[in-house]
Amino acid sequence: MDNYDLYDFATLAVRAGQDRTHERENSDPLFLTSSFVFESAAQAAACFSGNESGNIYSRFTNPTVRAFEQRLAALEGGESCVATASGMSAILATCLSLLKSGDHIVSSKDIFGTTRAIFNKYLARFGIETTFVPLADLTAWERAIQPNTRLFFLETPSNPLNEIADIAQLAQLSKKYQTLLVVDNCFCTPALQRPLELGADIIIHSATKYLDGQGRCVGGAVVGDKQRVGEEIFGFLRTAGPTLSPFNAWVFLKGLETLTLRMEAHSRQAQAIAEWLEKKPEVARVYYAGLASHPQHQLAAKQQSDFGGLLAFELKGGKAAAWTIIDSVSFISITANLGDTKSIITHPATTTHSRLSQEERESSGIKDGLVRLSVGLESVEDIKKDLQQGFDKL
Ligand SMILES: *Cc1c(COP(=O)(O)O)cnc(C)c1O
Repeated sequence: MDNYDLYDFATLAVRAGQDRTHERENSDPLFLTSSFVFESAAQAAACFSGNESGNIYSRFTNPTVRAFEQRLAALEGGESCVATASGMSAILATCLSLLKSGDHIVSSKDIFGTTRAIFNKYLARFGIETTFVPLADLTAWERAIQPNTRLFFLETPSNPLNEIADIAQLAQLSKKYQTLLVVDNCFCTPALQRPLELGADIIIHSATKYLDGQGRCVGGAVVGDKQRVGEEIFGFLRTAGPTLSPFNAWVFLKGLETLTLRMEAHSRQAQAIAEWLEKKPEVARVYYAGLASHPQHQLAAKQQSDFGGLLAFELKGGKAAAWTIIDSVSFISITANLGDTKSIITHPATTTHSRLSQEERESSGIKDGLVRLSVGLESVEDIKKDLQQGFDKL
């Protein structure tokens, strides 16, 4: 498969990036080797100098990792992709490669808590400051820009409240001020949203979530243009070493083969659960962009091809009611992960968002009665039954 432009997304998800070896294997091979051998001293020298392309050492050249990178680049429509040991190392590598002391970031305040810690606790120590703004407030983004602003960072939809950023508008703003727009596309994946086509510069992935989709491995990736991603971020990773293991890359290749189908199914199931929850008298509000009642439903419908598997709902009975629902499930997993075939239930106020003060939580809309659901691929009727056990006790 040479010219990816000729093929549809679902075909690329199954086949892009495969470079069949002399063994003529059908499924992607796993190159579990730390180093590679050369024909001669001269060839080794040519590979090291970059005059000849070839595998050297799996910290920065491994065929299984490369297959995953090429497949994900094809799916996002990017020139280059580099795989990383985790989603967090994808974010760290991007910032350390493209920023320097004295630079400034404008970030949505509704981002993954650990990403916020990278900005506040670590980058700040090296003279890179971050201003946090409400995700959907374009005026606030513009007002936060300083002469030294180099990077915009956001996740859309937000987790867990399903707020939507208008990527195309933010891309215009970032171009006007010559900053880079970095989008963490973890929740939609390229199956549902392709930010590069809307003008974003760089895509971040936690492959741990929907790209694997079966809760097996931790990993990440950065996708974008050849110069920034293929050279600058690759150069940082090659030197600093937070790269992806070939075994995890192989698992993610298998995950990508079913990504199209899984994202359709997650979306269909989450829509059904959201509509079911919305009718419950014990529920104050359901946060899911696929609902017509969602204030940004139109924007989400324009920007995304579907609405994904993550939703949240707020119980009128507060924390006690939320914990009753969680403690009454039989099979839904009580954990803080997401993007798995297994449905997952979480109480954000006391887990993922517990490090925030009560005030910060209130201002972010994380009320004590809020429950997050990562809707899996079990029977949708069984998921409803499992949740109903808690509703029966309220
Ligand atoms: C999980 C997550 C990350 C971090 O990824 P890891 O693979 O756990 O390091 C980053 N961003 C978002 C949106 C996530 O959900």
